[in-house]
Amino acid sequence: MSAALCGEDLCPKGTKVVAGQMTGIAIDLKEKWDRVSKRLRAELGEDLFTSWFARMEPEELNGGRFAVSVPTRFLKTWIETHYIAKLHKTSEAELGQIDAVQVRVRIRGVPHRAPEPSERRVEARSPDVALPFMAAPAATITVQAGDRALSLDPTQTFDNFVVGSSNQLAHAGACRVADAQPGTTVSFNPLFIHAGAGLGKTHLLNAIGNRIREKGPERRVLFLTAERFMYSFVVALRQRDTISFKDQFQAVDVLLIDDFQFLQGKTMQTEFCHAFNSLVDSRRQVIIAADVPPAQLDAIDQRMRSRLMGGLVIDIELPDLDLRRRIVMSRYAGLQSRTPGLVIPDDVLEFIANKITGGGRELEGAMNRVLAYQQFNHQPITLDLAAMVLRDLSANPDQCRIKIDDILKIVGRHYNVARTDLLSPRRARTVVVPRQIGMYLAKKMTARSLPEIGRRFGGRDHSTVLHAVRKIEEQIKTDDRLAREVALLIRLIEQG
Ligand code: ADP
Ligand code: MG
Repeated sequence: MSAALCGEDLCPKGTKVVAGQMTGIAIDLKEKWDRVSKRLRAELGEDLFTSWFARMEPEELNGGRFAVSVPTRFLKTWIETHYIAKLHKTSEAELGQIDAVQVRVRIRGVPHRAPEPSERRVEARSPDVALPFMAAPAATITVQAGDRALSLDPTQTFDNFVVGSSNQLAHAGACRVADAQPGTTVSFNPLFIHAGAGLGKTHLLNAIGNRIREKGPERRVLFLTAERFMYSFVVALRQRDTISFKDQFQAVDVLLIDDFQFLQGKTMQTEFCHAFNSLVDSRRQVIIAADVPPAQLDAIDQRMRSRLMGGLVIDIELPDLDLRRRIVMSRYAGLQSRTPGLVIPDDVLEFIANKITGGGRELEGAMNRVLAYQQFNHQPITLDLAAMVLRDLSANPDQCRIKIDDILKIVGRHYNVARTDLLSPRRARTVVVPRQIGMYLAKKMTARSLPEIGRRFGGRDHSTVLHAVRKIEEQIKTDDRLAREVALLIRLIEQG
């Protein structure tokens, strides 16, 4: 691609491929980019990835310079301010050393010009990036940059939230907040609920919002994710209208924030801190859900963290068998009311509750999978069918699929250690730690025995493997950074 055509940061679409044909180099770059994307998705999570990176395309890799393109100037600026270092690092992991990453605006054959105000509006309202939404119709506060009001999910209520020992406290806290008389606050503010994915956080937030709306339609409930908070703040900045952004918080009675762990950036935190303080100080309720407790929100400033800890912090644990059974039954009842004549035999329901040891989302996923299979194949739902369909969805879903080779490959790539080094007797720390992590992952993610893992890791003894597994297990307990790295590796390995 010629520099003259692209200008400094603009890139007419299509010029990256020579004269309209997909060259081998372009295909190669595309494949590499797919791997970078996959990594970004694993590291950032689905929401953030979709918002900022889904529309990014690789343009050229020239010497040490890697150029990517996005469809709007806004995205370019956002990525440059918030994600350039991450993009650089992640790209390097897949593409080799890069001196600089350049983000360009992709334009479709027309010369780039500053957008008209009306176009800005369209961009701010584009359907793939949703804006904060107001829950109560009577209480709709227009968020600047759009009136694409979404709503609370009316199907997620307290009525269909199944309570057991693992979520009892969170449920009780949520009920207290939802049932508080308007104008009064419960003794804890904020309520901070944390749990792993699929354990019911979003369901509880919706239940709180729905209950408050039901009891007092005039009460103003604002429900947003941290990511939407950031997005609408950026839109406000762009439109030079941060006043109405701030005002929207002045006007709410209850603020529900989901996926709080994604809040990042100093400006965003300061902004959130203002909104949060003004609400809590004026005795309005704030409810926050995140995947980790406040103390582990590394990206959040210490003062903010301690304010978050000042309320009530509750976690939701993995459901036990009894709760899983009841979630399955409740879900089955819901399905039956929508699908007359649907019958799932008891032994199949029992099998699902036993086999799937995750939370509500996994249980629902398993049931949907059985139903879908049955519908496509017109077979009756039997235990055999369920066992076959759910074979690879057990507590350790990927045990049969994941190979030690995949683990070696991904760990090696992540730590930049050659496979031969991982298998060699070398004792350098830069090799020993990744090797131990690899053994730990092999034990955790495959069904291989310790001696077999030892053999596959360069002919080591089973006691060496055991030592590595125990050591990493211990370290993960106290070393958050390592815990996160290992969690990321697991995701990368699972995604193949
Ligand atoms: P999270 O936000 O913690 O990732 P969700 O609230 O989205 O999890 O829950 C995932 C799915 O599981 C939702 O469909 C939710 O309704 C269901 N679910 C989770 N926990 C329960 C529960 N205790 N009772 C009923 N459904 C549940
Ligand atoms: Mg959620």
